[in-house]
Amino acid sequence: MKTKYLIGMMAIAVLSACKSGEEKKEKSEFKWQVDRFADLKVLRYQVPGWDSLSLQQKKLVYYLSQAALCGRDIVFDQNYKYNLAVRRTLEALYENYKGSREGKDWEEFMIYLKRVWFSNGIHHHYSTDKFFPGFSREWFKDAVTQLDDKLLPLPENMNKEGFIPWITDIMFNPEIAPKRVNLDPNNDLIAASACHFYDGVTAEEVEKYYTGISQPNPERPLSLGLNTRVIKKDGKIVEIPWVVGGLYGQALEKVVYWLEKAKEVAENERQRQGLEKLIEYYKTGDLKTWDDYNVLWVEDTSFVDYVNGFIEVYGDPLGRKATWESVVDFRNEEATRRTKIISANAQWFEDHSPIDARFKKKEVKGVSAKVITVAQLGGDCYPSTPIGINLPNADWIRKEHGSKSVTMENITYAYNQASLGSGFLEEFCYSPEEVEMAKKYGPIADNLHTDLHECLGHGSGQLLPGVSSEALRNYHSPIEEARADLFALYFLMDPKMIELGLIESADVAKAEYSAYIRNGLMTQLTRIEPGKNIEQAHMRNRQLIARWCYEKGMKDNVIEKKVKDGKTFFVVNNYNRLRELFGELLAEIQRIKSTGDYEAARQLVENYGVKVDPELHREVLDRYSKLNLAPYGGFMNPVFEPVYKDGKLIDILVSYPEDYVEQMMYYSKNYSFLPAYN
Ligand code: ZN
Repeated sequence: MKTKYLIGMMAIAVLSACKSGEEKKEKSEFKWQVDRFADLKVLRYQVPGWDSLSLQQKKLVYYLSQAALCGRDIVFDQNYKYNLAVRRTLEALYENYKGSREGKDWEEFMIYLKRVWFSNGIHHHYSTDKFFPGFSREWFKDAVTQLDDKLLPLPENMNKEGFIPWITDIMFNPEIAPKRVNLDPNNDLIAASACHFYDGVTAEEVEKYYTGISQPNPERPLSLGLNTRVIKKDGKIVEIPWVVGGLYGQALEKVVYWLEKAKEVAENERQRQGLEKLIEYYKTGDLKTWDDYNVLWVEDTSFVDYVNGFIEVYGDPLGRKATWESVVDFRNEEATRRTKIISANAQWFEDHSPIDARFKKKEVKGVSAKVITVAQLGGDCYPSTPIGINLPNADWIRKEHGSKSVTMENITYAYNQASLGSGFLEEFCYSPEEVEMAKKYGPIADNLHTDLHECLGHGSGQLLPGVSSEALRNYHSPIEEARADLFALYFLMDPKMIELGLIESADVAKAEYSAYIRNGLMTQLTRIEPGKNIEQAHMRNRQLIARWCYEKGMKDNVIEKKVKDGKTFFVVNNYNRLRELFGELLAEIQRIKSTGDYEAARQLVENYGVKVDPELHREVLDRYSKLNLAPYGGFMNPVFEPVYKDGKLIDILVSYPEDYVEQMMYYSKNYSFLPAYN
């Protein structure tokens, strides 16, 4: 649950200063954006430093990358029970359609197929709303009718004549599975959500079931329900685990196969033990094993690293079930120096945090932070990726063993490169000075914000004894993200940052404050469809913070709404006072988390984070659409190719393919291990 999406990256249009002229030239010739459709763009990232890895490290990255690709089908099925059937039908059509590949229907078909790939299903990856084909039902039915029966994922007891109208309806009918994750508290959260973590049970039954299970060790609670589907069998609630030999077993078996290989080239004993535990966990589904694994993993500081498992719970309206994901990476030594300084001073930050002393950690343990170079993305992290990760999620492990925090700098770099000269800043900044500030300090400010958010923010503070980490239920995620963001914002303007040599002047913080307010009150609305409210946790958190500060600072004119040529702008007039407001809100949000004050969390999120001003929204969308930019980005993966000599693996080469469709079809052919219906 601890990923942070890009906030102002589209706004940043500047090369990082340390690149040599030669490198600049090379980078600018690289095609960063390779596809653009609907509200999406597909980018590529590079893997700088690959050539300096040892052969053993390259092998490790390669094997872990294979493991990362093998779980792709799982997330499709988790997102919605008929996603695999839809995807395979579309892919069969793409490969075998004999009719014209020109004209509106075919173009719309390709857009829809690309969107299904991008979202790992038929719901928007970010809003979680179902999206619809732009081709006609008739064209589709006709096209699928021409396909051979055996190319289609026909369910048992259904022939092609029955299948075609059925699958067409799944795609076109707005009443079927309208939303993947519905957080509207007026509904049964399970019934209203299309995600495939539950079958035939109500939210109430599930809550009751889990509160009825006693924790073997309440001090170190297991993540109950993390890796299972809940169904009803003979009137009783039953959990079906996702394990080798069980549900999703066909894919997990392959993941395990590559993890076994990775284990053989592990960098050291601790990493090897971690991989072994992970394999054991995939074979047993045992949650104690999962915790043991996470303890090993968080203490593993090897150069090559990875995330692999059922981890984040954003996809479950009850915040319990995790989607499968993987990231493979290695350390960026130079940039890691920055986060090391922050980590080394973790206790200072905790002690000086503007929160009640009862909620502070007496001893901040092992905040390990690093900047990484991503080498492969898989599952829920592909193609849409976070830019920072902080794991593990279990509060007790974070408290006793610390957490691992990463900033994915080659990803943010790719975003920056792709957004050069987009005109976004010029449109939404009030003055040329604000644009200059954003260009000059935006990249470092954004990176530092991410570092502070991930290295310290999520790891700071503690729950009062007896307070459950699940007490905030459906408001947990936005509150948790707000807490981490506020921690970062508050300290970014602290003189300590200059003292530590992390920023050269307070202007860096000012650039971030302006960008944050601009984004939270205005520019992030580019991601919301007209008439819709804000659902996504990170977006709720950003609007919550920005709007709360705008309102509380009104009498002092801290943030001013200005209108110029009919365009709205939000200008920060008093940065010091804004910092104080960030501190005040941080104190309150920490109190909410530490005491498990559900009602206060609900009030804050619902009053500040959810509703959108329709007039401003329309204006922002109008201005944005004129720039013709895609609000969301995702990434193609690089390809690793082993080189053999006399039957021996002697090197692994990296290349950067440009064809999004080709990569997706390649994955569907080579890494698709699950049946269509699970
Ligand atoms: Zn976060």
